[in-house]
Amino acid sequence: MNQNTPIIELKGVGEKSKELFSRIDVATVGDLLSHYPRDYETFAPPVPVKETVPGEICAVYCSVAGIPSQKKIRSLTVLNVLVRDISGGLQLTFFNMPFLKKTLKPGGYYVFRGLVQTRGTAKIMEQPKIYGLEDYHRQCGQLMPKYALTKGLTNQAVLKAVRQALDGFAYEEEFYPRKLLERYDLVSVREALCRVHFPTDYESLKKARKRLAFDEFFGFILMLRRNKELVQGLGNSYPMLETADTVRFLEQLPFPLTNAQKRVWSELREDMAGAHCMNRLIQGDVGSGKTIVAVLALLMCAANGCQGALMAPTEVLAKQHYEGICAYTRQYHLIFKPVLLVGSMTAAQKREAYAQISSGEANLIVGTHALIQSKVSYHKLALVVTDEQHRFGVRQRESLAGKAEQGTAASGEGHPHVLVMSATPIPRTLAIILYGDLSVSVIDELPADRLPVKNCVVNTAYRPKAYSFIAKEAAAGRQAYVICAQVEAGELEDVENVVEYTGKLRAELPESLQIAYLHGKMHPADKNRIMEEFAAHNIDVLVSTTVIEVGINVPNATVMMVENAERFGLAQLHQLRGRVGRGEHQSYCIFVSSNEKKETMERLDILNHSNDGFYIAAQDLKLRGPGELLGVRQSGDLAFQIGDVYADAAVLQKAAGAVDALLREDAELAKEEHQPMIRHFVSGGKPGINSIDFRTI
Ligand code: ADP
Ligand code: MG
Repeated sequence: MNQNTPIIELKGVGEKSKELFSRIDVATVGDLLSHYPRDYETFAPPVPVKETVPGEICAVYCSVAGIPSQKKIRSLTVLNVLVRDISGGLQLTFFNMPFLKKTLKPGGYYVFRGLVQTRGTAKIMEQPKIYGLEDYHRQCGQLMPKYALTKGLTNQAVLKAVRQALDGFAYEEEFYPRKLLERYDLVSVREALCRVHFPTDYESLKKARKRLAFDEFFGFILMLRRNKELVQGLGNSYPMLETADTVRFLEQLPFPLTNAQKRVWSELREDMAGAHCMNRLIQGDVGSGKTIVAVLALLMCAANGCQGALMAPTEVLAKQHYEGICAYTRQYHLIFKPVLLVGSMTAAQKREAYAQISSGEANLIVGTHALIQSKVSYHKLALVVTDEQHRFGVRQRESLAGKAEQGTAASGEGHPHVLVMSATPIPRTLAIILYGDLSVSVIDELPADRLPVKNCVVNTAYRPKAYSFIAKEAAAGRQAYVICAQVEAGELEDVENVVEYTGKLRAELPESLQIAYLHGKMHPADKNRIMEEFAAHNIDVLVSTTVIEVGINVPNATVMMVENAERFGLAQLHQLRGRVGRGEHQSYCIFVSSNEKKETMERLDILNHSNDGFYIAAQDLKLRGPGELLGVRQSGDLAFQIGDVYADAAVLQKAAGAVDALLREDAELAKEEHQPMIRHFVSGGKPGINSIDFRTI
């Protein structure tokens, strides 16, 4: 058995499981081993009902008191049953699990484990897990891995497969030289993999995560540094002159640029006219108006007779940019001849687009990573803008740069200017490590006409109020987002999911409201359709995963309700909040926490007091104890699987140091002792750093 062994060769994995595993992107043993747990849980022994604490996950050992009652609310089956031990009673509610009516026999004893909540004076649990006492005791006291799952695939099944893979497979030899391991105090790769899946204790888990995060960062930075070598010191192949087009466009825009936008725009102009190829990052908080600055640069490029490309990480965002630019073009008679290029277009549409691109007829190409596919050949491509840069995997970023290189070689064309934009508020020092030698521009000012978003942090008891608030806003003609942490039931316990939640919400809100859902596992065409319907106001309430986090602009949406807010990093919640407050109406954010612990509420409360993404991310880091780092990710980050640029900042620094030391010692990467390492990273031995994963949340 090795990395590339198909998982179907594992015992107990047949055709059907193979299909299920493929839905979580696991095809080989290597994939399986890097399907790291999302969280761990310790099963504590059952406690008497009286001692359960609302807001915490508890287990109780109770008997079923009475016959379960079942009712139907529209498409939802709700099953209620009372259970008790000698200390008290607990009301359990199950959704869409009618079969339990037969399983839960009055008088039968079970362990029920779930989130304890209060309804009035009564204690309740929704959707608790049910165990036999012996089974339950067997799991007690261990750090059990919790994996990202898909419907039909249980945690137990993944766990069994991982265990087999770890046992049966001599993981590749250590690829770092021994002195590197010692210097940075890293455990071996095998040790790390074993312990990340099955930690013996918290310490061993920490060491395992450190090693794996180090690997991700190391590989990432190594590629960046090598890329940098390519770009650094390149002359300016496309020196650009300022023309009247941008000046005229700015005069006609209904709003003046903010001072920060003006500053960044002049930096871009200088870069593109200067002696060197531009290589710049624009960082600006959500809603700070990055797009218009990019459009100005692209316009300058078109006015100089060149092609520009604007690349977005999702089709929805790419289309939105495309349509926005088309509207500007019509309204202000700009010289753009834009063309859209996204994966869901038909073959004929794509062919047409390719033709326009290669002939130079199109001077602006807007799209997703379909842009970098090999069939596209450009004509005087002089500027490449990447929006929401942190959402792209390394490999995709590389191939666009490579694309330009190929173009250069084939047609004698020069290297295009590179502009990347990101809202991720990473400190400048980290940005420099991550993005190598990019020049960094910061838009640190919001347009003046914005009303600040009003926030509240509440517990689940507040839901009825939140729903009537949403209904009220909808009646006034506004729209709302509701965010859930997972797509469908079963991926994580005790966490709201988009599909079921939409069902529940339909039962709670007035029937006249159009409610739809959106998540990353949907077909791109369906996602686009839903987003378009929402933008056109044919949908009032959109229940979604964080896929909508990425740059969507629907100014009529005024309410953002986030369920299980405690599961998100604050930086990500801040990004989500940026989806509202984009228009003239007062907007509201409701963060619902299912965990009423003091620390959690305090952490979320930071969002009440600041609208500054940088400050929020820094505070979040300060407040989260090490134990809380697991399970909460600042996911809006770069597409690292295990490393977190905030929480693992120290590891990131070390990895950067290690790469620099390596390149100093062996600039050509030719030394024998370095070959295993080069093979590992260059052959893309590990997934993760290369993949964008919109589906994990
Ligand atoms: P982000 O920086 O999050 O990408 P966008 O570029 O999407 O933000 O801009 C958000 C909204 O603000 C857009 O509707 C845009 O037209 C508007 N906008 C941009 N700059 C200004 C400005 N200087 N004054 C007023 N509105 C602006
Ligand atoms: Mg944007």
